[in-house]
Amino acid sequence: MSGLALFGLKYPSLLQFENDCREETTRANLKARYGVERAPSDTRFRERLDELDPSHLRPLYKALFAELQRGKGLEGFADLDDHDLISIDGTGDFSSQTIHCAQCAEKHHRNGTTTYYHQMLGAVLVHPDCAEVFPLAPEPILKPDGAKKNDCERNAAKRLLTDLRREHPHLKLIVVEDALASNGPHIRHLQALDLRFILGAKQSDHTFLFDWVAASERTTEASFSDAKGFRHRFRYLNGVPLNDANFDLEVNVLEYWEHAPDGSVTHFSWVTDIPVEDSNLMTLMRGARARWKIENETFNTLKNQGDHFEHNFGHGKQYLSTVLMHLMMLAFLIDQIQQRCCRLFQAALTAAKSKTRLWRKLRNRFDLCLIQSWEALYRSIIHPPQIPLWLDTS
Ligand SMILES: [Zn+2]
Repeated sequence: MSGLALFGLKYPSLLQFENDCREETTRANLKARYGVERAPSDTRFRERLDELDPSHLRPLYKALFAELQRGKGLEGFADLDDHDLISIDGTGDFSSQTIHCAQCAEKHHRNGTTTYYHQMLGAVLVHPDCAEVFPLAPEPILKPDGAKKNDCERNAAKRLLTDLRREHPHLKLIVVEDALASNGPHIRHLQALDLRFILGAKQSDHTFLFDWVAASERTTEASFSDAKGFRHRFRYLNGVPLNDANFDLEVNVLEYWEHAPDGSVTHFSWVTDIPVEDSNLMTLMRGARARWKIENETFNTLKNQGDHFEHNFGHGKQYLSTVLMHLMMLAFLIDQIQQRCCRLFQAALTAAKSKTRLWRKLRNRFDLCLIQSWEALYRSIIHPPQIPLWLDTS
């Protein structure tokens, strides 16, 4: 809970958290609001979390997801045919030449030096029109055992999707991923788990597929213009064999060109198991492009927040780095749920004008006032109380 408070209140470093915890008011608030009986020293904090098997944190994502559903946070979030879009992508969250732990992946360079790094595969519910995104449990990409990096990310994807399906057996999901995912084994795995998909497909990786589309008489073209002056041009064909080796595996191919008013053209292509028709072209395209939200709304937010992460929070010898990544992600998920479902949080954010200012105001109040409830805390930001301060000179 100290870890959750650390990231929930966005302390810039463990040291600053420890210093603030010396204040009696902060200690009382941490106990009342986060259930922290006694905040640990920064050394104890690192030692204790370094021993913690990160799999113990997994159930928290599911519990928060249940809260999100109970709070009707996913109403209006479903996109195509009542499905939620889930964007899956990998990111690096740490890299160093010197600091490393038992969980670090290693890259050995020719000059004899080694780069140590951590990566994870994130899975985030997204919607083209919503600012909020909701992460499910990310999957750490483990130390490669002589395998190529790519195999590692693919293995992590297998674990992630299997766990996701086990924990959410009834969720109707469309997986959106980049072009690395449009291969036979991965698509078969998605099908086996009853997951729909829209995956990037590069012409250079799929010559067979694109030749088939070019040669077929069934290939259909369509084009629309919107009020902002963009022209959206599509070409699609359903029921195309993925490639020579997977001739029995049929996918639907969607190509798209966006003509901007300034004359520039952007091209995308995807494969999907959703039947493509004139009426769902725009929805499919917008759903596929919502994939970027995992990078823009999730990873970048966490990275900006976690500048000099290992320096300010520590790396550990065993699990610390992974546990801290989870705590940061969980705090982010709680923020996103509040932003979506809690009118008081929304009003406080509007009053504070930016997230940075909101977090600062929260920390200031933890330091200065005895906070009776989260409701009182947010109300004090929406309508700041006048606190008189004067010297008694009598
Ligand atoms: Zn490490």
